[in-house]
Amino acid sequence: MYSERFTKLTPYVPGEQPQDRSYIKLNTNENPYAPAPGVAEALRSYDVENLRRYPDPNADALCRLIAETHGIKREQVMVGNGSDEILSFVFFAFFDSSRGPLLFPEHTYSFYPVYCDYYGIDYKKVALDEDYLVNIDRFLAETGCGLIFPNPNAPTGMLLSLDEVTRLMERWPEDRVVVVDEAYIDFGGESAVALIDRFPNLLVVRTYSKSYSLAGSRLGWAMGSEELIRALYAVKDSFNSYPVDTLTQKAGMAAMADREWFDKTRSMVMAERERVSEALSAKGWKVLPSEANFVFAGAPDRDGKAVYEGLKAQGVLVRFFNKEGLTPFVRITIGTAEENTALLHAVDSL
Ligand code: PMP
Repeated sequence: MYSERFTKLTPYVPGEQPQDRSYIKLNTNENPYAPAPGVAEALRSYDVENLRRYPDPNADALCRLIAETHGIKREQVMVGNGSDEILSFVFFAFFDSSRGPLLFPEHTYSFYPVYCDYYGIDYKKVALDEDYLVNIDRFLAETGCGLIFPNPNAPTGMLLSLDEVTRLMERWPEDRVVVVDEAYIDFGGESAVALIDRFPNLLVVRTYSKSYSLAGSRLGWAMGSEELIRALYAVKDSFNSYPVDTLTQKAGMAAMADREWFDKTRSMVMAERERVSEALSAKGWKVLPSEANFVFAGAPDRDGKAVYEGLKAQGVLVRFFNKEGLTPFVRITIGTAEENTALLHAVDSL
């Protein structure tokens, strides 16, 4: 009944979206604040009559606004149904193990191996430093058909500087694509988009799900050389011509247009991240230095699973990882000040 391809799949398991009771939900790195007010206005004033028409297949107006916001050309941008879909197109277009395995960090976004299995791409996990930072020299010591890493990395939250990314690009073979998955870059990092004109084999992937508070709309985008972007359009148009619906295109434009809201909400998340990190450290936790909208932290007296269970019993959801090397930790999304205070109280009652 099933294709051989299908029998080999190992699906990604998303974080819990529980429906049984209301939790303080700090487990899937969503933004605690609403999208920019212009998003509500754009949706409210939308003439529903227009929904009988297909969306603009290439979301041109949205791509132009994204390009303008990042100081690049429209031809250097494409959007998709969440950055997960963009990543799927990227794996299809650029990675092929006839030229070696795809390289990615040992501890990283767990969708990467899932896409590798889906497309039949071999991969090699490259160890992090002892202090959990992605190590550029370890990547450069390997030969691969390509390289992908989140910056900041997930679930550690740790950031590589733009200098380090530049050093990598200067040494990495020009005919192999490097993807920097910048899902969390707006919470304190410096984007590698500044390098795309210099390195035509560099692709930067972004999402609306975190810093733009639109996880429910499913919108992500890629920025890179015109050549890489053309390839991604060819994949999209071989799979689904209309991945981004009309309302999402409108919401995405309104969210990106409001720079003030963007700066205000991400600043609040960053300030709270520092408060939570300091408070947990003061309680004896090991807290990795995060530049994302979450912290990766381990309690002094119990493992991540026990912390997860103890917090869940008190109505606070965080995420633990049942993977060697990560079991001491939980990943805690930064919530509102009230939610974070409730988390810290729950930690005291563990
Ligand atoms: N990359 C990383 C590193 C992530 O953590 C996530 C969120 N799970 C994504 C990509 C996907 O984000 P989305 O599909 O919501 O844009």
